[in-house]
Amino acid sequence: MTVVSTTASSVGLARRLADYFGRRPEDRARYAHVRASAGQIRPSQYDISNTCNLTCEGCLFFAGDDHLNHEQVLDAARIDAFFAQEAARGVNFLQFGGAEPALTQQTLRIAARHVRRGVVFTNGTVKIARDIPFRLHVSVWGLGEQARALRGADVVAKAVRNYRGDPRALFVFTVNAGNVESIPDVAAYCAEAGVPLTFNHFANTLTYERWLDGEQADPDYFRLGQAGTGMTHTPATLARAWALIGQAIERYPETVVYSRAFGLRIHHPRGLYQIDPKSGEASDCGSRVGAHYRHFHADLADAGDVKCCTPNIDCATCRLYQQSLSSLLARLEGFAVTDEGLGDWLELWEFWCRLNLVGWRPGTSSAQPAAEAQATVS
Ligand code: SF4
Ligand code: SF4
Repeated sequence: MTVVSTTASSVGLARRLADYFGRRPEDRARYAHVRASAGQIRPSQYDISNTCNLTCEGCLFFAGDDHLNHEQVLDAARIDAFFAQEAARGVNFLQFGGAEPALTQQTLRIAARHVRRGVVFTNGTVKIARDIPFRLHVSVWGLGEQARALRGADVVAKAVRNYRGDPRALFVFTVNAGNVESIPDVAAYCAEAGVPLTFNHFANTLTYERWLDGEQADPDYFRLGQAGTGMTHTPATLARAWALIGQAIERYPETVVYSRAFGLRIHHPRGLYQIDPKSGEASDCGSRVGAHYRHFHADLADAGDVKCCTPNIDCATCRLYQQSLSSLLARLEGFAVTDEGLGDWLELWEFWCRLNLVGWRPGTSSAQPAAEAQATVS
């Protein structure tokens, strides 16, 4: 995820929003609630551990070599000074990733002294202590034998034991071309277990693609490709995923956290991005590393001018849920062409809040958002 901001970028857009909300007071009140909850979001991303207790097929963290030679910082004073500095430069939303951040809870706890909002991307196997205030996104890749095949172990039951009833936790099913038919079972399982569920889409790393092409592979992260169970989405698997997610939304409205406006766009076979033919990178991705949105390694070193916080992913296959949502939110101009588009943009904002803010519920506020204001993530 990149920057989310709450101010309009042009007078024309501000007028357009003012006109829309003037005619739709209910939407104005919903948007005021979003703004009051989310405010101006200034995120950055931190890989805080170099180890993981799973071996997921095509893992994005252990692909490439950018995770190498970054020794994890354990010194509490150094960690404290680092996050104090992050807060001082304006970061107010922390994103903790790889490898498995639950294995280094001291870092999470120290970071929370300085910034209270953020999200931890975890595999759910190690319980994150209740005093750590961040949203927890718990990854799921399937159930039973499928999970064992894809991740090296079936850990869903343990994750449910760790997080049932925990308002921080949101389970995230990473749908790939090989497990798409498991959507109904995973949704039923989460509904029965009483844990909320959303959906991500598997994206290829460039490494995984080379392995699929026959390059010598790391057997820890490439067990299934040769067997013909590749995970790369096709137009058919995307269409099937959207059909099954739609059914899950209808069947388990209390469990499934999703957005129709997002589903329509993320499952489009064309994808979300313009790909630069020279670099192969998405030129219009809203989640690129920039002056403010930075990506850090486990040694707390700034990753430099990498393209984003998942630099090994092939942009042409990228449908990562958080990054994609941020990109869509940054495209207000396109949404503003029609009233229906602005309605979708508002729905996407509510979806962002449901994903990222602990305990958030859609609602309305009588506060009057400034006519020129726009919610943003950067
Ligand atoms: S849980 Fe995450 S870091 Fe660990 S192997 Fe799986 S994808 Fe990689
Ligand atoms: S992999 Fe590409 S499209 Fe995906 S978040 Fe990174 S820069 Fe954006």
